[in-house]
Amino acid sequence: MALACAWFAAAGVAFAASAAPRTAANRVILPDTVAPVAYRIDITPDAAALAFTGTVEIDIVARAATRTVTLNSLDLVIERATADALATPAAVGYDVRRQRATLTFAHPLAAGRHTLRLAYRGRIADSPSGFFHLDYRGEHGDARALYTKFENSDARRFVPCWDEPARKAVFTLATTVPAAQMPVSNMPVAATETLADGRKHVRFAPTPPMSTYLLFLAVGDFERVHRDVGGVDVGVVVRRGQAPAAAYALDTLATVLPYYNDYFGTPYPLPKLDIVGGPGGSQRYAAMENWGAIFVFEQSLLVDPRISSERDRQDVFTVLTHEVAHQWFGNLVTMAWWDDLWLNEGFATWIETKVAAHFHPDWYPWLDSLSWLQWTMTVDARRGTHPVVTPIDDVLAADGAFDTITYGKGAAVIRMIEAYVGAQAFRDGVRRYIDAHRYGNTVSDDFWRALDAVLPQPILPLAHDFTLQAGVPLVSELSLRCANGHSVVGLAQGRFAVDAEAGGARMWRVPVTVATPDAQPATAIVRGQRATPVTTAGCGPLVINAGHTGYYRVRYGDGNFAAIVARYAALAPEDQLGILGDTFALAYNGNMAMGPLVALLRAVPADVNPAVASYLTYQMKALDSLYTGLPGQAAFRAYARTVMAPVLARIGWDAAPGEGDAIATLRSEVIETLAALDDATVVAEARRRFDAFRAQPATLPASLREPVFSTVAMHADAATWDAMHALARAAGNDVERRDYYVYLAQARDAGLADRALALAVSGEPPTGTAPQMLRRVADQHPDRAFAFVVLRWDQVAPHLEPGSRERFVARLASQGRDLAMIPKLEAYARDHVPAGARQDVTKAEAAIRYAADIRRTRLPELDRAVAEVR
Ligand SMILES: [Zn+2]
Repeated sequence: MALACAWFAAAGVAFAASAAPRTAANRVILPDTVAPVAYRIDITPDAAALAFTGTVEIDIVARAATRTVTLNSLDLVIERATADALATPAAVGYDVRRQRATLTFAHPLAAGRHTLRLAYRGRIADSPSGFFHLDYRGEHGDARALYTKFENSDARRFVPCWDEPARKAVFTLATTVPAAQMPVSNMPVAATETLADGRKHVRFAPTPPMSTYLLFLAVGDFERVHRDVGGVDVGVVVRRGQAPAAAYALDTLATVLPYYNDYFGTPYPLPKLDIVGGPGGSQRYAAMENWGAIFVFEQSLLVDPRISSERDRQDVFTVLTHEVAHQWFGNLVTMAWWDDLWLNEGFATWIETKVAAHFHPDWYPWLDSLSWLQWTMTVDARRGTHPVVTPIDDVLAADGAFDTITYGKGAAVIRMIEAYVGAQAFRDGVRRYIDAHRYGNTVSDDFWRALDAVLPQPILPLAHDFTLQAGVPLVSELSLRCANGHSVVGLAQGRFAVDAEAGGARMWRVPVTVATPDAQPATAIVRGQRATPVTTAGCGPLVINAGHTGYYRVRYGDGNFAAIVARYAALAPEDQLGILGDTFALAYNGNMAMGPLVALLRAVPADVNPAVASYLTYQMKALDSLYTGLPGQAAFRAYARTVMAPVLARIGWDAAPGEGDAIATLRSEVIETLAALDDATVVAEARRRFDAFRAQPATLPASLREPVFSTVAMHADAATWDAMHALARAAGNDVERRDYYVYLAQARDAGLADRALALAVSGEPPTGTAPQMLRRVADQHPDRAFAFVVLRWDQVAPHLEPGSRERFVARLASQGRDLAMIPKLEAYARDHVPAGARQDVTKAEAAIRYAADIRRTRLPELDRAVAEVR
């Protein structure tokens, strides 16, 4: 599954920070007395009534004679259940809390094979999980399409089943739909029969054995573009009229499928692979890897040259690459239980970057991923973090596992281990793992053991250090001397934490790579507080975590840090970005003074790699946000403009012929950053281009839409805001309309922010846009947005997906920068959040305290450091 955005991913997990002993004994799972083998499901949806009827035949094996069969069922009414040829139906009992149904038969079923036959009915949901609908403006008026999304545990809302990842079975799905509509599932259509009433009955080919959460059905007025890729029918299914915008996605699929066939050493096993697009969006996810029928929201799928930027294309590439990787890592080989979700998500997140780096090195994907790594380490250093592998007793709590740690840290640990053992050995281990466990289920140690089988030294102990305990190692330079053309550095390992509760001592075996300019790097394992000497060729500034493939922070000695600053422009971009990230982090928590940070910022050349400059724009915006309402903000902005303006001066407003995509992306970000820093020239130029766009839309290239609209919206007066609102109402394209509404939520003016809040929940913006708008208002006005949500909860709640409402509010509050937010959040939690589910509230409070602490203790020092350089 691809997350909706990093913003939501940061919200995190709802389980205990101190890991309970890892045991399967506490798990809430179905009894294993009966095993499912095959399902034959037949569904008849009634899209207008938002209901469906279904029948299912389930081939099972009873391990011993039994009168009862318990399976998962939620919001389904089982009208009749029989076994084999027995005419007497079973009694059906429900356990609503545990989402189960129990069939009790008049006579025991003997040990061995049986077939259950169930007739049932269910509901089509309004929010995008289970069996749900998405409504949109079609070519001929309002239209409705149906989709499913079952991870983690929503297949039970579609069919009574053993809804656990280890209960793999063969699925044969059939459905009855209007003749003009196209149904899509995991497998190709096997048979179509036209019915007398104008409908058709479509049966799909049986799937291979797979987990319930990967089953898929969509029905709508679709069209499909497709091509053959090495014998696999590869396609993109979109609502009618959108096919031209699907071309980029189809090209991407055709590009990455052969790469994966080679990398995994096992060819893609199904006869077809579709991407199925859906209008709208979700707070929770952007895409879902259903086997053979990946679902993707259109925002992350369609590329329209008129409105899509280079960044949009990269996002499409990344989301698709991620989901296609799951066809092996997740679908062919599946984690046995949700504890090991990171195996799916960490791996897919890591390889999406690896594939992008292979096909599009000019995007600088690894550098880009370092920005997320910096954020991941910030979250992992705060109260409320958790280990990558985390016990999840009940699947109903597994939702929270889809977070920054699972995705971001999981990917970072894999990246570190790949770099440590070598790319080829790592790939050999992956091939061995896939081959050994195809169609099966695994735990993390199966993966490490497959790697160990191809390595001279076992990786398992190091892997355990980074996956079974939370937190970020800190590697400190204790000493550095140069003799006979060699550097000897003394390194110690501690823990990097931003609050006391995340600071308990921990031991990690950290693979540390050090390098001097123009010499081969050296790697050693550093563990514990005693100095580990590491020798490397050459003298001069010594970079620790060279290449920045390691998951740890670095504290340099003063002399070496000064030498690094002096040679900063000559460092590799990975090291430039990583050192910036470590320096910000250490300066924020008081481990370093602000003076060296400002000295480092001065050393960043105007022609620095665009991905490094992009990271700098992110940090400058974050600092500006921390300064909100403080007396030093104007002076900080004046200083920050001197850092960022030379970058824009170098690349200009208009694309140069042949410039890379990364420059286009940087241009967008640096314009938005300078606008946030109140750069009058930039704001005036954006307004000029906006006015020209209103007179003649073709004057504004797609790549400048976002920075121009964002800047104008941020600095809007009422007349400009109204003009943009009119654009939103008039936009014919669904993605474009959504964008306009989100821009409207960016106004700095408090009155306009209030109007945006009211507009968000008015019902006027497209379905699913409200959460994005509320979040965007909170970027500028966290207190206003939070107060609005609490006061108008009855109006806001229907726009938030059930199950993620409390998380959403906690995350909104976490944008706050003042301690005054904490009692407000706690008051909300008392009324709305069950006592056992307040981990998100805890984490939000940690984030607020972190921001408030920086404002109180660190920014005054930054004020002085900035004053000295101006
Ligand atoms: Zn995923």
